[in-house]
Amino acid sequence: MNIVMVASECAPAAKAGGLGDVVQGLSRELSLRGNQVKIVLPKYDCLQYERISELQQAYADLWVPYFDEQIHCDVYRGSAEGLDCFFIEPHSAQSFFSRGKLYGDGDDPARFAFFSRAAMEFLYKADIQPDIIHCHDWQTGLVPVLRYEIYEPLGLGHPRICYTLHNVGHQGTTSDQVIRQVGLDYYSVMTGPRLLDTNRGNAVNLMKGGIVYANFVTTVSPHYAGEILHTERAGALRTTLQIHRDKFGGILNGVDYRVWNPESDENIAARYTVDSLPEKAKNKTALRRRLMLQDAQKPVVAVVSRLDHQKGVDLMKHAVHFALASGCQFVLLGTSPDQSVNDDFWALKHQFNDNPDCHLELSYDDELSHQIYAGADMMVVPSVYEPCGLTQMISMKYGVVPIVRNTGGLADTVFDANYSERAFYERNGYVFNDYTADGLESAMRRAIGLWYDHPEYFRQLRINGMRYDYSWSHPAQHYLDVYHHIAA
Ligand code: ADP
Repeated sequence: MNIVMVASECAPAAKAGGLGDVVQGLSRELSLRGNQVKIVLPKYDCLQYERISELQQAYADLWVPYFDEQIHCDVYRGSAEGLDCFFIEPHSAQSFFSRGKLYGDGDDPARFAFFSRAAMEFLYKADIQPDIIHCHDWQTGLVPVLRYEIYEPLGLGHPRICYTLHNVGHQGTTSDQVIRQVGLDYYSVMTGPRLLDTNRGNAVNLMKGGIVYANFVTTVSPHYAGEILHTERAGALRTTLQIHRDKFGGILNGVDYRVWNPESDENIAARYTVDSLPEKAKNKTALRRRLMLQDAQKPVVAVVSRLDHQKGVDLMKHAVHFALASGCQFVLLGTSPDQSVNDDFWALKHQFNDNPDCHLELSYDDELSHQIYAGADMMVVPSVYEPCGLTQMISMKYGVVPIVRNTGGLADTVFDANYSERAFYERNGYVFNDYTADGLESAMRRAIGLWYDHPEYFRQLRINGMRYDYSWSHPAQHYLDVYHHIAA
């Protein structure tokens, strides 16, 4: 099939979190199965240019409607570690994608609404006629709307649209100016059943538009699909999802084992598999050296995460204290766009500055993240909610035992060592229910206890996790089934 991904992220060129991993991993798997996959992205000034080869101008004369004007864009084409990517660069005073970061500005909805219109205009003008357009999250929620309202009448073939919700905590709610900005007909789209955010007066909900107009809507785990259909998690979108439930389903994300694999990872000190697990110890030593932690007979407990409320920042802080008090070392890698959250973690970092068992690295560092997965013994993922979560699945591949809260995709992938109803060889971590310090401690205490008192069982738990197949193999087949279903 001919598939075009339209997204705000694709690793390694542009990644802020799991969305970038998913677009990369799914696209790669679809390509390997013989599909033609193109990816359309903004040309951010902060792209990882060293990871893109053969970057050159592919289309020079793209004029994209913007209110009553047109903005001139260049489109570049390059190969991001084998993926065929198009990067849209607008030339305008707003410098939409020259902000030194992907997200975090007040005009984000306008920036990505512009990108959605530009991506569709590009497909139309360059006469790219995919069977499927697959778009992602609120940033590209207007793509299905624009396809139906503007480009189909103009004759842009019949691409079917799959729209994936990676996190309904961010819906792209914005002023109705955006309708005029992208050239949609106000009275046609600003209705309750379409783009109007029923909770907020005259606001537009970009994600709602994507859900209403797409041919099929997926989210990133079966458990999260149930949560957003049946609980308050999605806010007013719950009703929209219920109306459209016949074209909605959860498909668990995969992990790209070409990127995340201790057997071939070039970022780590020693490569290992289930059969050479003792080699993992060398990565623990290397991690300690890099982060100036002492060599000691202690487990390394880690967190690798955006420091966002959703990720459970309060419990992360509690985990630091509890791990240190329980005879562990603690390593955290994370950043937040929210200054007050960053300040909190900087204060914590200063508090443990001289502690030889603790290191907080408050930055985004891809290489270090690989080294932490390779060197750690346990990974804490205490999310308030978690649509899918990749860190727990990556952890398992590296023989790190995840300690997670029972929510969303974490509930679909981690099975408690003591309380799961699964056979022992299928148990792969520790799970707690309540978002409380006691809840977290109950799981951490059991994990740390096992490491100290029953190392052979702990080793078996690592191996159980490493043997799981959380690759893209199954999810990509699911997506292909969806594509064929909507293309039929
Ligand atoms: P989300 O998409 O909500 O951020 P996921 O668990 O789906 O969460 O994906 C997180 C991805 O981002 C993982 O690949 C993780 O290793 C990576 N990551 C998170 N924070 C950092 C960081 N500070 N530095 C490097 N990688 C990070």
